[in-house]
Amino acid sequence: MKISGHTKVVAIFGDPVEHTLSPAMHNAAFDALGMDCVYVPFHVRPNGLKGAVSGLRAMGFAGANITVPHKENVIEFLDEVDEEARVLGAVNTIVNRGGILTGYNTDGRGFVKSLKDDAKFDPKEKNVFICGAGGAARGIAFALVNAGAGPVFLYDVDGPKRDKLVLDLNTALKKDAARAEPLDPDFIRSCALVINATPLGMREGDPLPFPAYSFKKGQLFCDIIYNPPRTAAMAAAEDAGGRVLNGLGMLLHQGVLAFEHWLNVSPPVEVMRDALKQGLGEH
Ligand code: NAP
Repeated sequence: MKISGHTKVVAIFGDPVEHTLSPAMHNAAFDALGMDCVYVPFHVRPNGLKGAVSGLRAMGFAGANITVPHKENVIEFLDEVDEEARVLGAVNTIVNRGGILTGYNTDGRGFVKSLKDDAKFDPKEKNVFICGAGGAARGIAFALVNAGAGPVFLYDVDGPKRDKLVLDLNTALKKDAARAEPLDPDFIRSCALVINATPLGMREGDPLPFPAYSFKKGQLFCDIIYNPPRTAAMAAAEDAGGRVLNGLGMLLHQGVLAFEHWLNVSPPVEVMRDALKQGLGEH
């Protein structure tokens, strides 16, 4: 990589940011395309977010990714926010067009792209059960409804958070797009697509997000965790005869969509996937 006065810079702001795999993924794509661009992580604490965002303008960065814990708070510092990110209340991608900063959210569409490309699953008119109603689940639920899934059934240990997401979906998208559900294994078995959007499974010894007998043959189970690449819940779903997908494809495709926003170029998807796998020690 040769850095010069012409090099376009894309940033990622997070707290912490040390473990992000996005620089490896995007810099591999720049190298493969021979683009004079570089993607750099910055550790930005909450009280530095406003300054960091105006720095994007001041230093003429092409754009940025925004990660935990800034996805919601960054919105007030932007000039424009696209409709999807506005409804979600969260931004993961900023594009700088001549000093005008526009926010987007590519997480949910990244998930649906992975579902279609990696698992060959079309969510149209399929019943979907999502466990967890946090930031990731919000994007996924919105994108699934927009892709024609329905209804989306939601469960979270935090009942008010789950109910707020159901209300937001039904208000912003369409009546009966989503319904609140208790954690009922018989009901989960009746859904074509089951998603774990909780952090349960990241640590060894974590309990399953729902009992193993919630899975059945023919079902697709997506665990949006990508490290470890195969969670205990994925193993249980496979034991029951189901298909599984982890969160690597979601991470990849949110990055692909962000890349397209910044540079109006289609990136080399498999180069980016390989870079992620290498970063995770899967090669
Ligand atoms: P989050 O905002 O903290 O949301 C997680 C939600 O799950 C919270 O509402 C939490 O409730 C709830 N929860 C915890 N344990 C539960 C249980 N046993 N049953 C039902 N709900 C439970 O986190 P997030 O940002 O959405 O991330 C969730 C997971 O997705 C993490 O593992 C993250 O690494 C992964 N992720 C992957 C990608 C990707 O690209 N593949 C992208 C984003 C996130 P409480 O707050 O009450 O605990």
